[in-house]
Amino acid sequence: MKLTNLKALATASVVALSVAAPLHAETPLEYTNEIAPGVYSFGGGNGYHSMFLVTDDGVAVFETINSAHGEKMIEAIREITEQPIEYAMHSHNHWDHASGGGVFQAVGAETVAHTLAAQYLAAVPGQDTSTPDIVWDGNRHDIEIGGATVQLHYLGLNHGLGMTVFVIPEKRVAYIADLVTPDRVGFNIMPDFNIGEWERSLGEILELDFDVAVCSHTALPAEEAPNGCTKTHVEEERQFLLDLRGAIFAEFQKGTPSEQIPTSVSLPQYAEWEGYDDWLAMNAWRVMLDIWMGPYPWVPEG
Ligand SMILES: [Zn+2]
Ligand SMILES: [Zn+2]
Repeated sequence: MKLTNLKALATASVVALSVAAPLHAETPLEYTNEIAPGVYSFGGGNGYHSMFLVTDDGVAVFETINSAHGEKMIEAIREITEQPIEYAMHSHNHWDHASGGGVFQAVGAETVAHTLAAQYLAAVPGQDTSTPDIVWDGNRHDIEIGGATVQLHYLGLNHGLGMTVFVIPEKRVAYIADLVTPDRVGFNIMPDFNIGEWERSLGEILELDFDVAVCSHTALPAEEAPNGCTKTHVEEERQFLLDLRGAIFAEFQKGTPSEQIPTSVSLPQYAEWEGYDDWLAMNAWRVMLDIWMGPYPWVPEG
């Protein structure tokens, strides 16, 4: 091969890699770990974490992510049980979470989404998204499987559309996408987060019936991440948002010019959290714009 072709190939590979790289940069762990009887956390090695419930009457999957992730998860499930996969649940509309439903539909599962997420995916489908089989409405839906109840909670416009928090009270377990990320500041520019509703939702999550959860992203150390997250992390996420807003108001009061506030804010108590150096100023811009412009995103009720 000529040098020029090698160069072209190298450039093409870099482009392909950057396209395939995960949106979230957390520890790329690949694992399966039983966090409660019959409930497993699953790390796809791509910064995204899913969960599945194994019963004597089928399997329920939480968060398909994408086809490659889903295929790996099906392999992990097959190492544990031959029970059919009955349900694959989507937490919300974003393509980087709600893709890959097709690989579960292909093995006979029904995919599940809140109507607001389903409407979005119908209007703007991604390359790897599929049409949900079960679409539910309102604030609460239950799915029974193998004697366990899966509670689907829609808590409002906190992040994305139709954001569902899943709770299996019999197992004292939950699945939480994007709303709680242990040991990390807010993701980047906090895309598609309504800050006030996010805070309110975190308070509601603390009231739900679980002790351990799988969070879709985590910056916990590699040896701890497979054990999931807890209400301590939910509380810490809420406190971080309160502290960030407080630090912005403190700068207002000092008379710091508004355009200098995001880079002036410091929260040393979070200095060890992932993203502190790169993202804190972006987080501050996002919260400050919300204070300035009014809460967004926003959609009419119903
Ligand atoms: Zn999202
Ligand atoms: Zn995410």
